[in-house]
Amino acid sequence: MRKITIAKGDGIGPEIMNATLSILKAANAPVEWDEIEIGEKLYLSGNTSGMDKRAWDSIRSNKIFLKAPITTPQGGGYKSLNVTMRKTLGLYANIRPCRSFHPFVHTKHPKMDVVIIRENEEDLYAGIEHQQTEEVVQCLKLITRPGCEKIVRYAFEYARLYKRKKVTCFTKDNIMKHTDGLFHQVFKEVAEEYPDIESDNWIIDIGAAKLANSPEMFDVIVMPNLYGDVASDIAAEISGSVGLAGSANIGDRVAMFEAIHGSAPTIAGQGIANPSGLIRAAIMMLNHIGEQATAELIQHAWARTIEDGIHTPDIYVEGVSKKKVGTAEFAEAVIARLGQKPETLPAETYARGVEMKMPVYKRNKARKKALKGVDIFVDWTGKKPDELAEKLKTLNNEIKLTMITNRGVKVWPNGFDETFCTDHWRCRYEVENGHPAEKMAIVDVLNRAIEKDIDVIKTENLYEFDGERGYSLGQGQ
Ligand code: NAD
Repeated sequence: MRKITIAKGDGIGPEIMNATLSILKAANAPVEWDEIEIGEKLYLSGNTSGMDKRAWDSIRSNKIFLKAPITTPQGGGYKSLNVTMRKTLGLYANIRPCRSFHPFVHTKHPKMDVVIIRENEEDLYAGIEHQQTEEVVQCLKLITRPGCEKIVRYAFEYARLYKRKKVTCFTKDNIMKHTDGLFHQVFKEVAEEYPDIESDNWIIDIGAAKLANSPEMFDVIVMPNLYGDVASDIAAEISGSVGLAGSANIGDRVAMFEAIHGSAPTIAGQGIANPSGLIRAAIMMLNHIGEQATAELIQHAWARTIEDGIHTPDIYVEGVSKKKVGTAEFAEAVIARLGQKPETLPAETYARGVEMKMPVYKRNKARKKALKGVDIFVDWTGKKPDELAEKLKTLNNEIKLTMITNRGVKVWPNGFDETFCTDHWRCRYEVENGHPAEKMAIVDVLNRAIEKDIDVIKTENLYEFDGERGYSLGQGQ
């Protein structure tokens, strides 16, 4: 018996969890569970993360967590429990299979069968935000090589394990050349290790448009956190119903499985919620812990139930569906079909005894890092960049003022009068002779700025790595 942690959550959570557990019991799934309380009750009792020590201890000791949706109370500085869990427990990969169940569930995309693999810890979700001037706030987008390597390799390993043919990468590296550029670069490197799997890359905007219109073009898609958040919801929605998809959050030590939808408070307590998302999450969980036979047994019975037209109201369509049922009755129908196979929908089979090969991250040999200057960011309410440049040139010594940008657009030298400027100016100082600068040159610029009453709000060092520029140029350069 494998011990797992479960939480019934809020809203429709208890109803869909009870339905799912009844199916696990009836299928003799070799799991036993420890139930914890998380979510609204905890939040409202003053716990800002929605989880207490007992919950953390149970999840960390059992390592497998089947979670029903929770309600995050509005306002009041409550932290997202999901984001906290993903980051604290290192759940770096979010996996969302989104497939259609045509002709039994209405969809415009009958051939859709896409798995979205989303990086789960980094990107703008690092949550590092600052107000820097009266007019400007910033959010730091962090993309790391270990983060990219882990998620991209996971996507290829997943494709191999589940006999998928192609892995596609979505990025926006035509604009974010360094952050998304690193993700794309790592994708190309890792793809070479998997010659048996096709690979391609799309810019996220056109990629997402194609996904929404022609999802059958895609197989497995891997992407950074924010794009994955948006694209996976679109994919789930166009596959038929948000009530149908499950997801997994995978880390090296702990894994969490849940339905993709929320606690649906407007239909809570009515016994009409579709438990399929959580049932399918439980199937993913059984697969993850090596219980493929039980995973297949439940998947086949669930697909047969859908095929037989036994539908909850969210997917019930007159003429297609045969019987409208509530949450508990749907679970009973699945239990009654344990041992049967679907006739039209695929009876999925899962590989046994195969493990994903996820190597421990090895740091590359460090390249030669040379300091080439500094961007200092200045809070200044003046209008004319030339005036600011005159002030800033007085800070020159070892490193020289070479450029001023506002919101990334070059405004000095040779700026355009038409460019709209805020009170947030990036002022670039660079070495003149190509030799690396000393860090003291930066301190020197900052000291002089303080003396001249120039309001520096932050700095970013400019580095080259083995002679390759590690910073962006201003737009217009
Ligand atoms: P939601 O997913 O709960 O509901 C969106 C719509 O889908 C509603 O019309 C709802 O009735 C319907 N729906 C969702 N699941 C269904 C199901 N299983 N069967 C039938 N219909 C279903 O999204 P929301 O209304 O934006 O959020 C409600 C609450 O859920 C919020 O407090 C939010 O913070 C929380 N939430 C939690 C999670 C999670 O715990 N993983 C995820 C998303 C939202």
